[in-house]
Amino acid sequence: MTRRDLLKAAALPAAVAPLYSQRTKGLPRLTIREVKAVPTSGGNHYQWVFLKVLTSEPGLYGIGSASNINQAFTVTTAIQKHYAPFLVGKDPDRIEDVWQNANTRNYWRNSTVQNNVLSALDMALWDIKGKRAGMPVYDLLGGKARDAVPMYAHADGRDMQEVENNVRRYMEEGYRHVRAQMGGYGGGGMIPAGERSRPAGGYAGPAFDEDDYVDAIPRLFEHLRSKLGREVKLLHDVHEHLTPAMAVELAKRLEPYRMFFVEDILPPEQIAYFRQIRQVTSTPMAMGELFTHPHEWVPLISERLIDFIRCRVSQIGGITAARKIAALCETFGVRTAWQEGGDNDPVNQLAAYHVDLAISCFGIQEENHFPPVAHEMLPGTCELKGGYLYGNDAPGLGIDIDEALAVKYPLEPIPPGDSWTTVRGVDGSLVKP
Ligand code: MG
Repeated sequence: MTRRDLLKAAALPAAVAPLYSQRTKGLPRLTIREVKAVPTSGGNHYQWVFLKVLTSEPGLYGIGSASNINQAFTVTTAIQKHYAPFLVGKDPDRIEDVWQNANTRNYWRNSTVQNNVLSALDMALWDIKGKRAGMPVYDLLGGKARDAVPMYAHADGRDMQEVENNVRRYMEEGYRHVRAQMGGYGGGGMIPAGERSRPAGGYAGPAFDEDDYVDAIPRLFEHLRSKLGREVKLLHDVHEHLTPAMAVELAKRLEPYRMFFVEDILPPEQIAYFRQIRQVTSTPMAMGELFTHPHEWVPLISERLIDFIRCRVSQIGGITAARKIAALCETFGVRTAWQEGGDNDPVNQLAAYHVDLAISCFGIQEENHFPPVAHEMLPGTCELKGGYLYGNDAPGLGIDIDEALAVKYPLEPIPPGDSWTTVRGVDGSLVKP
């Protein structure tokens, strides 16, 4: 299949296009009247930014997620100062054209902030199209391919027994898929502060050691399999911490425990090493949390080097980009597992949900849940029950935003110093996420 065929295959499903024309026949031509940014802490120290597209039809608008935990203020300014003036007057029905135009007008493509704005714009335009047609977005994408969206939960613990207890707790709730970590980010490989040989006067904090990690994690999964049996599907996130040879070694050592997938075993700079991993082990690989450019995911998918693609929908260009990736994945036997960090928001989750419902190459969706204030601020936020995610059947994305409530909780300043992504070795050198 050529690239052109793939893109054609990803276009609005043939059976749906006439229905949309029929539903909107006789309606006046729409234009974008206003584009605004709605930044908020979500009442819970989030760094959320929503984009709202208002149209020439009174009361018809769409919303999208432009959240970026590390650059929320930049994203807000980008929407207000750079994109809003460009978008006013455009036809919101022409999603593909507006998307391509917004991407290439910057000349340089696929920066993280640009992708956040594009993603939010794209979600908002699908929201508008759905509301106008009286159809949920998943119906515009071809209709339900499943009844609800299965999620995987996050189980953690300071030792193997605690991890086991937490996996059991999720299994009892109904989850069939559980990600197991030992002690958080880098856990299993962290040397306590001050221990082992350190440079005089140098870094003395907790330090990552990949040999320790590659010994500890297979022992964790040996324990979990012996205690929990074969039924539960187990996942693990390496958070990109390993050098290539150690990534190959870990993938081999985990093979006996029949993982559902191992996530981000390599940093994005070293994705060529997936060829070596593929040659030596059948452990399924998931990759893509940090991807923002097609040149990152296309080779891994088209050369069948990974089993799951797990980009964040609001970092790749929204629903339009996700369904193009899904079309590619379907062709090459790769499944989706859209990423949901704890920093993510309900609008991005719903955008992923609509794609999840409508594609045949769906694999799994990462779990994320929100405090009551978020449900109040964003009515229509998905519900999580028994390991499944449920949206609603309202037209569009099926979510709204209470702007007055959002404004009551403004973005908070970024705390000074390092973020959770900063990990160092005993000699003080950085370990890349
Ligand atoms: Mg991850």
